[in-house]
Amino acid sequence: MSSLPVINSATPQASESGEQPAGSGKTHLLNQTEPELRDWLKERGHPSFRAKQVWRWLFAGRASTFDQMTDLPAKLRTDLAEAFDIFVASEAHLSKSRDGTEKILVRLADGGEVECVLLKDGIRRSICVSSQVGCAMGCVFCASGLDGVDRNLTKGEIIEQMLRLQHRLPDEERLSHIVMMGMGEPLANLPGVLGALDAARDANGLGISPRRITISTVGLPPAIDRLAQQGIPYNLAVSLHAPNDELRSQLVPVNQKIGIGPVLDAADRYFVSSGRRLTFEYVLLGGINDSEDCARELTDVLKGRTVMMNVIPYNPVEGLPYVTPSNEAISRFKQILEASGVNVMFRQRKGDEIDAACGQLRRNRGSLNKK
Ligand code: SF4
Repeated sequence: MSSLPVINSATPQASESGEQPAGSGKTHLLNQTEPELRDWLKERGHPSFRAKQVWRWLFAGRASTFDQMTDLPAKLRTDLAEAFDIFVASEAHLSKSRDGTEKILVRLADGGEVECVLLKDGIRRSICVSSQVGCAMGCVFCASGLDGVDRNLTKGEIIEQMLRLQHRLPDEERLSHIVMMGMGEPLANLPGVLGALDAARDANGLGISPRRITISTVGLPPAIDRLAQQGIPYNLAVSLHAPNDELRSQLVPVNQKIGIGPVLDAADRYFVSSGRRLTFEYVLLGGINDSEDCARELTDVLKGRTVMMNVIPYNPVEGLPYVTPSNEAISRFKQILEASGVNVMFRQRKGDEIDAACGQLRRNRGSLNKK
């Protein structure tokens, strides 16, 4: 983020290394890799193949304690329990909506809180996971960024959200899709996010194809380029929210330091290197970015690009002045985009009654006042 003073000014303290200790003083097992666990086992005279067994218990067996790992010798289970915590956070609140969406407010070992969501759609079991406590991007319509960013999450804290959501599923169901679109800007915490996604992709982890994993960003060009250099075909979703710099800088303040042009250029480079179709996100705010002019300008911006445009009618946040667009404005906006040949999807708002917009549950629970 060196070229982005706005982000640097709030660069979080924790976890570039992912080595943040668990609250008990033990090591967070989910911050380790399987080879690291193998080394630990060898040093203590345990066979290194046990690491694979432990990993299988964590990701396929859905174990949350070492006692549940019944095919491990008792001595090994004791040694592991003395050295490691599997989960270091707790569930401060769980909400379920009528459409099957479940949202967990996760309280971290240091008292910080983040949110993660399980969405059920047909046979899909998608999860939306947070990458930071708070967010430095300051999108004016978002509850997560209202108070800035506290810190990056560790790799283990991100994996823990995935596993907690997986544990909500019946045994016969498995997670199918991951979206890094919860609290925080994932590309401002690349080490933590990429480490967690390694475990999500791994055949011995959650085994989810990168083609079913989406990283959502406001668009930080240097970090998009670093992501492209990984050579892993994740889907990239760039949040535009406006068709021109004047409006985008009002809605997404970090845009003042970047500009739409460089964001689109970086997205184009990602498309070329990954071969993955780009997604652009556009939160439709009543009376602000939902006019016919905005729709036409947007079609100009997207012309010649292979993209999916996700338009999301705004979910109101208590205390913020923004409103859901009228049905008429939504259908006009849709018509103009479709008529120009843009692939456009108007996303249903799932989990409305449980504050499913990111940051809403944390805020409405008043947790910011508790810290
Ligand atoms: S919308 Fe996303 S990037 Fe913007 S402030 Fe909220 S969490 Fe951060």
